[in-house]
Amino acid sequence: MALVTISGYPSAGKSTRVAQIQAYLQQRLAAEDYAGPKLSVEVLSDDVLNLERSVYNVLSGHRSEDSRSEKPARGALFTAMQRQMSTDKILIVDSLNYIKGFRYQMYCAAREMKLRVCTVHVVAAPDVCREWNTNRKDGRTYSTETFENLIMRYEEPSSMVRWDSPLFSILWLDTEIPGEQIWDALTKGVVKPPNGAS
Ligand code: ADP
Repeated sequence: MALVTISGYPSAGKSTRVAQIQAYLQQRLAAEDYAGPKLSVEVLSDDVLNLERSVYNVLSGHRSEDSRSEKPARGALFTAMQRQMSTDKILIVDSLNYIKGFRYQMYCAAREMKLRVCTVHVVAAPDVCREWNTNRKDGRTYSTETFENLIMRYEEPSSMVRWDSPLFSILWLDTEIPGEQIWDALTKGVVKPPNGAS
């Protein structure tokens, strides 16, 4: 029914925000005033596919290219996404999704199935991500070289291009997520300006 593409720096808090977005959407779907079709909210991530952070490791001396293991990993993510997209679910793809061309491919695949789409940019300053990456206790720390390389190669989403639109940004200090705007975009195709601004 819909595809939510997450994008952000390594250790920017993406999975943390995904859990909040998933909980919000599930709560709206379970609410008494919801009269639409029955939908599930599912998350596809590197972790679900058992892709280690090391797939993003770069070969020394090839800093501007993605690693040999990254392309097949991205392929696996894309294949799984195509298999899991359906008219009866909201699929959230929680990965770095940092390459513009890859987000474009995801958008085309979703539109081909007539799904609604939106992109959520989880924003945190590099220093914040660096600190969170170093302090991770879940065994999912990116190595320093890989972390710096991914920050350098990150291609920021833009609301000016159709494949990243509508685009919602969540900053690291935000206590709330734009749950209602995401809900409206996915279920009604409506994008309201944030905070009631016109
Ligand atoms: P990503 O999915 O982008 O790799 P995670 O959501 O897994 O990021 O978070 C990375 C690390 O940062 C985790 O250890 C998490 O506990 C921590 N973290 C995430 N969001 C916050 C926050 N708002 N404040 C403090 N630590 C955070």
